[in-house]
Amino acid sequence: MTEPLQLPALHASHAGTWLREGSGQTRGVSKGDAVMAAADTPLLMVNAPLVATRLGYPDLSGLDLLELYAFVRPAKFCVPTAKGLAEAVGLPPPESDADTPAMLQRAAARLMETCRSDDWAEREGAWSTLQSLTRLRWPWAPLLREHVRKPERAEKWLFSRLPEWEEAPERPQPRQIKLSGDEVTAQLDHLTGEGSERREGQRHFASEAASIFAPREKRSAPHLLLAQAGTGIGKTLGYLAPASLWSHAAGGTVWVSTFTKNLQRQLRQESGRAWPARRSDGSRPVVVRKGRENYLCLLNLEDALQGGFAGRPAILAQLVARWAAYSADGDMIGGDLPGWLGTLFRKRGIAALTDQRGECIYAGCPHYRKCFIERSVRSAAQADLVIANHALVMINAARARDAASVPRRIVFDEGHHVFDAADSTFAAALTGRETIELRRWILGPERKNRGRRRGLAARLADVSSYDEAGGAAIEAAIEAARVLPSDGWLERMAEGLPDGPVEALLYQVRAATYARDESGGQEAGYGIETEAAQLPGELVEAAGHSLSALNEIRMPLVKLAGRLEAVMEAAPDWLDAQGRARIEGARHSLAWRIDLLAAWIALLDRLGGPVDERFVDWLMVERNDSREFDTGIQRRWLDPMEPFARTVLDTAHGVMLTSATLADRHEDGPDWEGAIAKSGAAHTDAKPLLVNAESPFDYANRAEVLIVTDIKRGDLAGLAGAYARIIEKSGGGVLGLFTAIRRLRAVHGRIADRLAREGLPLYAQHVDPIDTGTLTDIFRDDPAASLLGTDALRDGVDVPGESLRCVVMEQVPWPRPTILHRARRSAAAASGSTGQAFDDAIIRARLAQAFGRLIRSKDDRGHFIVLSPAFPSRLKSVFPVGTPIIRLTLDEALARLSGAQDGTDASVETDVREDENSGAFET
Ligand code: SF4
Repeated sequence: MTEPLQLPALHASHAGTWLREGSGQTRGVSKGDAVMAAADTPLLMVNAPLVATRLGYPDLSGLDLLELYAFVRPAKFCVPTAKGLAEAVGLPPPESDADTPAMLQRAAARLMETCRSDDWAEREGAWSTLQSLTRLRWPWAPLLREHVRKPERAEKWLFSRLPEWEEAPERPQPRQIKLSGDEVTAQLDHLTGEGSERREGQRHFASEAASIFAPREKRSAPHLLLAQAGTGIGKTLGYLAPASLWSHAAGGTVWVSTFTKNLQRQLRQESGRAWPARRSDGSRPVVVRKGRENYLCLLNLEDALQGGFAGRPAILAQLVARWAAYSADGDMIGGDLPGWLGTLFRKRGIAALTDQRGECIYAGCPHYRKCFIERSVRSAAQADLVIANHALVMINAARARDAASVPRRIVFDEGHHVFDAADSTFAAALTGRETIELRRWILGPERKNRGRRRGLAARLADVSSYDEAGGAAIEAAIEAARVLPSDGWLERMAEGLPDGPVEALLYQVRAATYARDESGGQEAGYGIETEAAQLPGELVEAAGHSLSALNEIRMPLVKLAGRLEAVMEAAPDWLDAQGRARIEGARHSLAWRIDLLAAWIALLDRLGGPVDERFVDWLMVERNDSREFDTGIQRRWLDPMEPFARTVLDTAHGVMLTSATLADRHEDGPDWEGAIAKSGAAHTDAKPLLVNAESPFDYANRAEVLIVTDIKRGDLAGLAGAYARIIEKSGGGVLGLFTAIRRLRAVHGRIADRLAREGLPLYAQHVDPIDTGTLTDIFRDDPAASLLGTDALRDGVDVPGESLRCVVMEQVPWPRPTILHRARRSAAAASGSTGQAFDDAIIRARLAQAFGRLIRSKDDRGHFIVLSPAFPSRLKSVFPVGTPIIRLTLDEALARLSGAQDGTDASVETDVREDENSGAFET
């Protein structure tokens, strides 16, 4: 039995605040007393920023057990609550708020006991890190000193302990083979395991999925499969069966692309049925690939550890270094670095440790051979299965380093998001932030304390001394880039003192946006925008000057790219493998910047000239709570599937888009028209094959859609009251979805305390200082908890079982009437559809995604509630066939929830008004 650590402990929830003296009693205290106590002596607590929010005292600090956990158990999962911590250290969870401080004392003691134990798996490196943390005055350091013993031999420094990646030859082309139906079903049986239930829908799905692996018959015409796969058919194994067969027999790579990190995690697990963790040569057949901004940059970490970070961020850097030594892949965002670690330190410390700005110096970096990013890129080129996200697949298709890294057989799971991912991937944004990034990439840091990040000249110093023309191009690019916006540009905008042609343009853009925006965002403090039409002469003139300035930068960069190619071709003696790799890296990132500049130039060219119908352009000022962050010109493709088809489909041999909500659902089955349009098929010679596998779940008896008609739009008190009563009646387990952050905050503010007093914790995105993934973990972990959120939770939450019993939408999720939305709506109307049909498709997709959160396994049951008297009846068919849809008052809805609680609502009662009266629902 662990003796509790005799230090005072504090716990604060929405229900109150509890303080326990070192060895005394736990007592409820006021917020003021808690703040005073924390000022007197460091208190044990869990998640100090959250406690600070609860107490309304942002400067609160103390002995945060999550920091201790991150030190003792780096790269180990822990839900960042008292209950989660108790489970992670093997203690019984506290039974009440009042029990929590005592548990914190026991948990602290348990973690220190771990440090003393001989079988502490993460001992290596702990002593050295603790010495640094002591110098940084980490509050836990003095307490840990007597528990972490000095090692007999000096510990290896992190950067020498990490393994090096191996260079491997490029993979040969895959063999051209055809999979037979029998082979695929046999493989599926193998993956699902002996004795598992035979699911016909899954078998059918797997056989159809095999079609994308057949040899391609025509250039630019991949096999294209659109597969609607209802929740529960087992689509993951359904496509992994042919994918694993094919990769094994053909020796090629299959890319599975997801939109959410959640599905990536699930895929990583499920792929274990088809592939071993390691091949006989030690390499990994399954690799997770993310954008480089997700991974720890070891050079940035080294800079941070050596004085680049000070104060609290320096402590964060030490804890990240602890983690890096035990991490599976160095993935900081959604990998094994706890999502809560960054939020404990409040600053943007995590982002500063990744390679956000593309300033990687490749083989010029002392950690190049151990770099997590380089390792992941190399492993992916040799992998059988690459698990990636939609944006990365598109970027790799456009800019892969070599032929073997181009995705050619791709399964887009969560395929309903491909359109949105293409929309942002192929967008162009000429804004202050983007231009300042380019300036930094070319010029390097202009302030002293920016570590070893370097500009173009330093990165390519050897080339410029060897190749005169290359050196001159670098000089010219640097000179030209000096006219780009620099630090302080936002202040200069506000003061009306722009510096240089691009800042002058941004100043005009900002002025025009403020003059013309009518969205209501100005008053509300939100971002504002106006279309790029009928622009003032000053703006058009400024655009012309900017265009010339950007051209002046682009030309020497193009010249430099040519010189680098020439240097590579006639490689000088001094160019060793490392030097080649560095020049390759530079060419790659150079090509990216040249394309970026070309996109900006095209955008500016259009401002004063004729409209290009393929694009939607607008001016914007990005703001949050009236504070400006960015300003500039945005460009989106009217149909982003056009560039998608050109870059992804044209080069691919087989592509599958699959999702439970790929196609809109009408009374008589899936409506494929929209799904085909959003696949890009129209822009290629591909003929899409369509498959529909219905969900095996019994929605008729396990789910109900309740349309609550007596909460009026705009009645905030009524809305908050409805949420509180629904959560109370369900006993928690409610996922509340909002279309506006302001309303979410208002509702949370009104009801969180009341619910907490009843033992029903309420968490909220945009309120609690916790990232979305962690909020979902907390929600999943506690069946009494409820969670409020916006878009990211609408289809990023997979919570089967008790923890999610009810989904509540505050209103019909209408699309926001942005300039982009209006343009696409008009285009739809012009091509024979109607604006209303366009909007309906968006709403129906959102409803289908939100409803999809409810029933995740065959044993789940629950209610889907929409608090809206104006629910158009034409949207009804979006719910699975047979799902009862009932229009009723809040009181009636609560009565049905009570029935669910005591198990009496298994079927729809005949006296409840069924939604057959379509007219009654029209807005
Ligand atoms: S190779 Fe690039 S990303 Fe990797 S550690 Fe070095 S600078 Fe960072």
